[in-house]
Amino acid sequence: AVFGTLSDRLADTFKNLRSKGKLSAADVDGTVREIRRALLDADVALDVVKAFTTRVRERALGDEVNRALNPAQQVVQIVNDELIQILGGQQRRLEFAKNPPTVIMLAGLQGAGKTTLAGKLAKWLAEQQHTPMLVAADLQRPNAVTQLQIVGEQAGVPVFAPEPGNGVGDPVKVAKNAIKHAIDKQHDVVIVDTAGRLGVDAEMMKQARDIRKAIDPDEVLFVIDAMIGQDAVATAKAFQEGVDFTGVVLSKLDGDARGGAALSVASVTGRPIIFASTGEGLSDFEPFHPDRMASRILDLGDILTLIEQAQKQFDEEEARKVAEKLASDTFTLEDFLAQMQQVKKMGSLKGMLSMLPGAKGMREQLENFDEREITRTEAIIQSMTIAERRNPKLLNGSRRLRIAKGSGMTVTDVNQLVARFEQAAKMMKTVARGGVPQVPGMGPI
Ligand code: GDP
Repeated sequence: AVFGTLSDRLADTFKNLRSKGKLSAADVDGTVREIRRALLDADVALDVVKAFTTRVRERALGDEVNRALNPAQQVVQIVNDELIQILGGQQRRLEFAKNPPTVIMLAGLQGAGKTTLAGKLAKWLAEQQHTPMLVAADLQRPNAVTQLQIVGEQAGVPVFAPEPGNGVGDPVKVAKNAIKHAIDKQHDVVIVDTAGRLGVDAEMMKQARDIRKAIDPDEVLFVIDAMIGQDAVATAKAFQEGVDFTGVVLSKLDGDARGGAALSVASVTGRPIIFASTGEGLSDFEPFHPDRMASRILDLGDILTLIEQAQKQFDEEEARKVAEKLASDTFTLEDFLAQMQQVKKMGSLKGMLSMLPGAKGMREQLENFDEREITRTEAIIQSMTIAERRNPKLLNGSRRLRIAKGSGMTVTDVNQLVARFEQAAKMMKTVARGGVPQVPGMGPI
C-alpha cells in the first residue's frame, strides 16, 4: 500500500503515546525522534523532515496539547495538520483557461508515467464533458507516438501526431500545429506529451522550455514517479529551473514505494500536487487531496473522528453549561442520560468528568468504574417517562416496578440508580460550585 511502512511506523509511535495521560517533554521528544526516523527511512528529504519535526515538536510542547483532554490524540492531530501542510495544504484544482483551449503540457523523466498520465487525464476530462485532444510531442522515443495513440484509443480521445515517416520532426512545430488544430476542431483542452530522458539533461530541458515558450500552456504538470526515492528532490528542482511547472503529478503511488517523493516535492518546490496516479489502468487516477493523503498515511481515520467528537462534546462551553445546570439544581435524569450517552460514544467517563471544574479529585474514585454499567443505567432511564426523568420524586413504588419490568432490571436496580443519581447530582453540585466532593464509596453513577 501507499506509504505502508511509514504508516506502520507512525502508528507504532502513536500506540506508545496513547497509553499515556499527560505528556512530558521527554515523551514529546521521544515521539518526535521516532517520527523523524520514520520519515527519513521513507526517503523524505532531510530539509523537509527537519522543518516538519521542528513544527510538530513546538506545537506538541505548547498549550493546545497541555490543555487537551487527550494529549496523545492532540499530538496525532498536530502531526496530521503538519502533514497536510507539507503536502500542500489546500487542494489545488486544475485551472482552465478563460478562452479555450486550455493547454496542459506534461514534463518529466522518461518512464515517469507521462504518456499513461496523458491518457488518464484525457479520459477523466472527457468524463466531465470536456473535449480533450492529446498531442504527441515526444519525438525522441521510437514508440512514444504509437504508445500515445494506443492510450488515446483506450481513452476514446483523439491524438494529434506528426505524419508517419516524419517521426524525427520538430516537437515545437508539432505542438504549435496541434493547438491550431484543436481550435479548428473545437477541442477545449489540449494535453501535450513531451519527451523525457532517463536522467535530467540540458538538451531535454531546452526542448521542453522551447515547447513551453511556443505554446504558452495554462498548466505545466511535472510528472514524478513516487518510487524514485532520494532522487525526487534533485529531479524536481532541475525541472523547476529548467522548464518550471505549475503543478505536480505523483505517479506510481500504488507501488510499494517508500514514498518520500510525495512528501518532499510539494514543499521543496512550492508547487502543488494536483493529481495522483495509482496504477497502470486509465482509471487509476485521482485529484490529489492533501488532507485525504495525510489521513491515509496516518491510517488514523477513526482516531481523528474520535478527536473531533472529543472536541465537540467536551469543549469548555459544554462543560460550563453542565456545571451551571448542576449548580442551579436543574440537573435531571434526562441530562444524566444525555451525558451518559455522550460518554458512551467517547468511551470514557473519566474524560468527561475531568472537564468539570474542580473534578480532578474524583478521577481516582472513577478508576475502577465499569463502563457496562452505563448500558444498564441507560436501559433503566429509557424506560422512564419524560416527566419521571425530569422529576425523580415522581418515582413511587408502582412506577419503579413498571420501569424495572420495562428495562429488564429489578426494582432494587432501579432504586439503586435513583439513589446514585441523587448522590451524584449532589456531589456534582458541590463540585460545580467549586467545592471538594465528599462522597465516600460513590460507586458507579
Ligand atoms: P513516460 O515515459 O513518462 O511516458 O512513462 P509511461 O507512461 O510510458 O510509463 C512508464 C511505465 O510505468 C509504463 O509501464 C506504465 O504502465 C507504468 N505506469 C505509469 N503510471 C503508473 C502508475 O501510476 N502505477 C503503476 N504501477 N505503473 C504506472
